[in-house]
Amino acid sequence: MVHNEIRRLSAKEIIESFPEGKEILEREIAVASEQIKKIEKYLKTLYLDESQSEDIKSFITHFVDVFFYKKLYDNYRRMRRELAMYDPPRNTLNVEAAKAVPIEDVHEFAKARISSTRIHANCPFHDEKHPSFVIYRKTNSFHCFSCKKSGDVITFIQKMFGLNFVESVKYLLSCGGRT
Ligand SMILES: [Zn+2]
Repeated sequence: MVHNEIRRLSAKEIIESFPEGKEILEREIAVASEQIKKIEKYLKTLYLDESQSEDIKSFITHFVDVFFYKKLYDNYRRMRRELAMYDPPRNTLNVEAAKAVPIEDVHEFAKARISSTRIHANCPFHDEKHPSFVIYRKTNSFHCFSCKKSGDVITFIQKMFGLNFVESVKYLLSCGGRT
């Protein structure tokens, strides 16, 4: 009865309960990689050998392919995939969520005139008497008709605070807009 409850572990579970497997995989991958190189070198030599007939070349290639190469290569790729699971990509940036933070929420715009589709305001990048800065609310983008700066909310943060792209995304995700 207990036997019925035994189930296959997922790759993630195996990796979590078997951290030393990473080292073993790395060794196995190095061995397989050497073997693959040897086979490829052998086949190259065979093909460059003028004394061998085409039939012999074709036979040997087929033989090597069926018995060694394909199995080895499939195994090699499987191990590479398993190894990658030990080091999953961390801190993936949610760029879409950052882009969704409204521009109008990340800065106090002077002389803002708000309509349902646009906001006209003084450009925050320079002094001006008449508003030439427009926020397009639907696309969450901006354009200044005076200094010609334009872009989305990430660009706005980059230009406003002198941050790079990644820093700007992190800033937007952490502030989530003005509260
Ligand atoms: Zn401007």
